[in-house]
Amino acid sequence: MARCPDCNKFVGVDSSEEPQVDLNVDEQGNVDVTAEIANNCDQCGTTMFTGSLDGTVDASEIVEPDGMTLTAWLDTLTPAQKDSMELEVNESGTDRTDRYEGKGRGARHFYGCQVDFEVVLTYDNGNAEESKTFSGKWNDDMQASSMDQQ
Ligand SMILES: [Zn+2]
Repeated sequence: MARCPDCNKFVGVDSSEEPQVDLNVDEQGNVDVTAEIANNCDQCGTTMFTGSLDGTVDASEIVEPDGMTLTAWLDTLTPAQKDSMELEVNESGTDRTDRYEGKGRGARHFYGCQVDFEVVLTYDNGNAEESKTFSGKWNDDMQASSMDQQ
C-alpha cells in the first residue's frame, strides 16, 4: 500500500503496465537491455513508482532453433563474411514479473520484467545474402523500496 498523490489516499499498486525496453547488439553479438518499469495507482492509473533495470545477455546465451549459439555461428564466418555481416535485435515480447522474498511482515516485494528478443544475423556468403535468426531472453527485478517514488 502507498499513498496516491491524486486520489490522496492509500491505494493498491497496479504493476501490469508494459515496460519500456531498449535493446542494442554489439559486433560480438552481445545484447544490452534497458527496461523502465512503472507501478501505477490501481484506482486512477497515476504513475506512482518507476525503476530502471539493465543488463547484458552474452552471445553464447543467444541461440538458433537448432541450438547453435550466436557465438558459435560468428566463429564459423570467414573474415570476408564478417566484413559483410550485420546484426539487428528486435523485441519479441515482454512480461512484467512480481515476486516476494521472505514471509509475513518482513517479506520483501520485487518488481521486474522479462524481455524476449530476436537477433537477426545477415551476411554475404560469397554468392548470396544469408540470414539467421537467434532468440534470447533476459529478466531482472528490483525491490519495491528501491523504486523511485513519483
Ligand atoms: Zn490514484
